[in-house]
Amino acid sequence: MNMASNLSTQAEQTVSDFLDLPDPMAEQYDTIMYLIRQTTGARRVCVQLDGAPVQAVPTDMASIQAPIVHQGSRIGMLRAFAEEFDSGAAHLLAGFAVLVAEHHALWSVAHCDMLTKAMTRRAFMVDLGRAVATWLRRGQHCSLVIFDLDHFKIINDTHGHNAGDAVLRAVAHVMQSELRPCDRLGRLGGEEFGVLLMADIDAAVEISERLRRVIEGTTVRDYPEIAFTASLGVATCGPEIDSRDALITAADAFLYEAKQNGRNRVIGAVNIPVLDPWD
Ligand code: GH3
Ligand code: MG
Ligand code: MG
Repeated sequence: MNMASNLSTQAEQTVSDFLDLPDPMAEQYDTIMYLIRQTTGARRVCVQLDGAPVQAVPTDMASIQAPIVHQGSRIGMLRAFAEEFDSGAAHLLAGFAVLVAEHHALWSVAHCDMLTKAMTRRAFMVDLGRAVATWLRRGQHCSLVIFDLDHFKIINDTHGHNAGDAVLRAVAHVMQSELRPCDRLGRLGGEEFGVLLMADIDAAVEISERLRRVIEGTTVRDYPEIAFTASLGVATCGPEIDSRDALITAADAFLYEAKQNGRNRVIGAVNIPVLDPWD
């Protein structure tokens, strides 16, 4: 029987629908999933983190589940499916849920910037490299936006470092809510961020202009008196920009130009002719 016909599917798009990227939330648990299958006889195991896109699950099997708890709070559910389970399986699964929680905590330290919850530079660069590789292989559009807050030093000097931190958190928060699940936000360092978009240059520049306006209009709850803006540089993979480093260099150069041209603006090469890189 085809498993797919037994899945209660949800139409969420994941990163892997767009890129040859592993879903960062899925692949990290491979070893634990394997052990659960071996010890409980489960045919299928899933880690469903709260807030993540809901996964398809089999509807014609018995299931057992255990909460995944981190620092006293539930962060998701570990679920296993099989034709039937032994009586001890639920107890075993509860033990594995503790392992999943610990694994998730370690993974988060490596992948999430503690202050802003954006991706770390390192994790972002890995995904950027994979996105460029996917563009080379399949032609899936790949754009990079690098943005940097304007005169951020003055914010720190005037309102204090805590206020600066609050601004950084607020910016990352509003960016995440503006982006699609398949897009990526990384903190590249200090007050500089990267956005990976599965979009061509026209769309990427349009999105960047929207992001610029959103940043300009953001108010930080505890510091409503602070106004701030950002400058953005946008580059897209194409015949002249065919590697991760070239993409970063191009976006950086446009960001520099945006700073030189008065800040609070988007600069990208919008009117470049679209050439087929395989011609
Ligand atoms: P420009 O418009 O040219 O980008 O000017 P700028 O003032 O934003 O740039 P500059 O590089 O001169 O200053 C960046 C400041 O960002 C200096 C640094 O102390 C501050 N900064 C870097 N990381 C953090 C952080 O995590 N928290 C806070 N509050 N400030 C930070
Ligand atoms: Mg700056
Ligand atoms: Mg900077």
